[in-house]
Amino acid sequence: NAADIGVTGMAVMGSNLARNLARNGFKVAIHNRSVGKTEKVIDSYGDEGEFFPSESTADFVASLQKPRVAIIMVKAGGPTDAVIDELAEHMEEGDIIVDAGNALFSDTRRREAALREKGLHFVGTGVSGGEEGALNGPSIMPGGTKESYDRLGPMFEKISAHVDGVPCCTHVGADGAGHFVKMVHNGIEYADMQVISEAYDLMSKALGKPASEIGDVFAEWNKGDLESFLIEITAEVLHHTDATSGKAFVDVILDQAAQKGTGAWTVQTALSLGVPVTGIAEATFARSVSGSVPQREAGRAVLPAETQDLAVLDEASFIDDLQKALYAAKLVSYSQGFDEISAGAQEYGWDIDLGAMARIWRGGCIIRAKFLNRITEAYERNATLPLLLADEYFTAEITKCIPAWRRVVAFAAANGIPVPVFSSTLSYYDAVRAERLPAALVQAQRDFFGAHTYKRVDGEGTFHVEWSEDRRETNQDA
Ligand code: NDP
Repeated sequence: NAADIGVTGMAVMGSNLARNLARNGFKVAIHNRSVGKTEKVIDSYGDEGEFFPSESTADFVASLQKPRVAIIMVKAGGPTDAVIDELAEHMEEGDIIVDAGNALFSDTRRREAALREKGLHFVGTGVSGGEEGALNGPSIMPGGTKESYDRLGPMFEKISAHVDGVPCCTHVGADGAGHFVKMVHNGIEYADMQVISEAYDLMSKALGKPASEIGDVFAEWNKGDLESFLIEITAEVLHHTDATSGKAFVDVILDQAAQKGTGAWTVQTALSLGVPVTGIAEATFARSVSGSVPQREAGRAVLPAETQDLAVLDEASFIDDLQKALYAAKLVSYSQGFDEISAGAQEYGWDIDLGAMARIWRGGCIIRAKFLNRITEAYERNATLPLLLADEYFTAEITKCIPAWRRVVAFAAANGIPVPVFSSTLSYYDAVRAERLPAALVQAQRDFFGAHTYKRVDGEGTFHVEWSEDRRETNQDA
């Protein structure tokens, strides 16, 4: 009588994942470095299913059915490495170690390569949905070998969220692909959250609306194209009253947004791959701006607004514009995020089905949204779509939003309200559709001071101008 699967790390995520597995009929071995947490799970939830608690790693591994599957759910970084080493010591060829924490995909690639040497499968798995998702059905993004997925897939698909009967779990791709996709998912989440707060800010500052009324607007938006978990919880947060002060909850929160690093990873990775994820980058920097306390104090003390106040003539059409601008900015953020996944897949040799990624994000995860179906359909129409926005459906959708989007960005600029995601996504939109970009001048400057060469619009070859001599053009390929 052995366990089907084991989970080590009985903090909130690991214990919830173990309970989810047990509730779904799997026999689950559980373990935690300090024994108390394991005991607590048994005391509080032992009757939810069949648990096999162990105090030591050796006993934990011994309690697993072969080929063994052990999920690690501990603090990312050093602790994960320590637990991997301990598990590997007791495991045998063909066994599977799953890291379901939030690891950086390059760490996962390193760990996978090291364990492969020992004949073990290492599966970096993205898990989204927070504690609630882990317990009731998360979106699961496993990387690793196909062979390991044959063993893991049926269990993971069973405990994942389901939308229209379809599990929010699929094999993403080899080695670090799962953690890569989870990373980009989190980056998109940053952009979604920021652009929602920009819409809130405009309603608050330009319309002077109290939080609860803005909450009503979000609740209304949640019935249309924008229907999503983040819009839904935004409405709830805005309707919430602080128990201590009796004021709107959002109004008593210090305006500094923290971050745990996955947004920054998405942006750093995008920079090294050369993918312009401008919406995600601005959203990540917006959190940094909010936390730049001395700079904000200094700025607030002396910097004038010099606004050119535009009045809101019609509140209903202003709100309608915001809804459209929000949808457009969101489409750009997702399009950029999918570009990053596709660039990562190319760089690391992963065969990632982009449409399937949108499908497994429809439920369980933080960015779950109605419109993800449309992304899946777009990639079904064309699996190698170079730009999500260029899919016929999305082109038609964004076209309907453009005038409103421009009005929102212009209004915000004139009235001195920062809208980094609304405006950077619009700039990207205008850049990606432009016939010609001023990059020509940048390249000419590069050639001037650094002899970095250039190509011509009217012929093949690589050229350089002898700027400090007679300014003659030389063909570098000749
Ligand atoms: P924590 O990240 O707070 O980690 C606590 C757990 O790690 C405890 O079980 C602790 O054991 C264990 N641990 C810490 N250091 C070591 C070590 N050196 N050796 C062995 N065990 C160690 O737990 P969470 O449940 O919040 O998160 C677990 C993972 O899930 C993290 O990687 C996190 O990033 C990720 N996560 C994902 C979320 C999501 O939405 N997908 C949300 C939250 C987290 P002990 O009790 O002995 O101290």
